[in-house]
Amino acid sequence: MSLSEAPALPFQRIAASSAEPRTPQDLRDLHYPFGRWVPDHGTLFEVAPGIHWTRMGLPFGLDHINLWVLDAGDGWAIVDTGVNLPASKRAWERLFAGPLAGKPVTRVIVTHYHPDHLGLAGWLCALWNVPLEIARTEYLLARSLILDVRDAPPPEAVDFSIRAGWPDTAVTEMRQKPWGNFHKIISPLPAGFKRIKDGDVLTIGARQWRVVTGRGHAPEHSCLVSDDVMIAGDQVLPRITSNVSVYPTEPFADPLADWLESIETLRAIDPGILVLPAHNEPFTGLHTRLDQLRADHVDKLAKLLAFCAEPRTAVDSFATLFRKPIGESDYGIATGEAVAHLHWLEERGQLRRITDALGVDRFVAI
Ligand SMILES: [Zn+2]
Repeated sequence: MSLSEAPALPFQRIAASSAEPRTPQDLRDLHYPFGRWVPDHGTLFEVAPGIHWTRMGLPFGLDHINLWVLDAGDGWAIVDTGVNLPASKRAWERLFAGPLAGKPVTRVIVTHYHPDHLGLAGWLCALWNVPLEIARTEYLLARSLILDVRDAPPPEAVDFSIRAGWPDTAVTEMRQKPWGNFHKIISPLPAGFKRIKDGDVLTIGARQWRVVTGRGHAPEHSCLVSDDVMIAGDQVLPRITSNVSVYPTEPFADPLADWLESIETLRAIDPGILVLPAHNEPFTGLHTRLDQLRADHVDKLAKLLAFCAEPRTAVDSFATLFRKPIGESDYGIATGEAVAHLHWLEERGQLRRITDALGVDRFVAI
């Protein structure tokens, strides 16, 4: 399967969404110590002693992921793995034959279950005969999604789209498609795993890394924090907003509450730390970025509440929430994000849900 043939997945972010730095002040506040320079795919760059950065391609609107290789003394520890596509495997093989030659991979650690992070974990674990280290919820969720392959979407997923106000044409098209793309770009996972959890301290070579769990983008996302460096995964990205969505598997969830709570949790981390994000470039200015992320959601919530002076569906709210027009191919991801914001307001008693005879939910300010 070539990159262009890879399936669209519900984990794509809405590219370059509204948290792009908008003012000169924003641009001053975040500092990129390596500028916008990035390593070529299949090469390594040492960003801090014992911490190496590589980058691989992605077949999504978002076209790259940053992966990290840590010097573990007698071997290498890999943090996040890329999607299961031939190009990513070839990039790893080039690294193993080149700059990583001479020592084995002794650990494979994954921040969360999304395919760009977990995709080659099973392949790498089998290749090096090492366990997969990941949070329990992430592992179990991935295992269940891999198995959930159907000829047509389950009724709960169709109902979720109808509730959100999808037009009939989009619902009809959805019904005609097979369900469950997740397995397509995930290499087979090991049947067991080694659990990591919030507060754990992982000794890797000369460094100790504390696991700090974030929620909202994924249910149990592991960030790794060493003295002056943080591997942030998708929990903090400098120039794009992480997707915070409600999915049909948990249609009444309030993930934005988890996300905003995690922003507060991350404020306990040293503001001067070098942040290694999964997308864009390494940066400093963690607390500034947390402020920006929070402000972006607060701004969206305020606009949404004003928009809901009249009863509105999730689809109605797209133009209020997203700067780029949402075509029907983006309805899945946009619906998840819109419903997350609507649920946050509903949970806090600011919106009331009205369900009509056709099963469509509209939300109106109280
Ligand atoms: Zn992710």
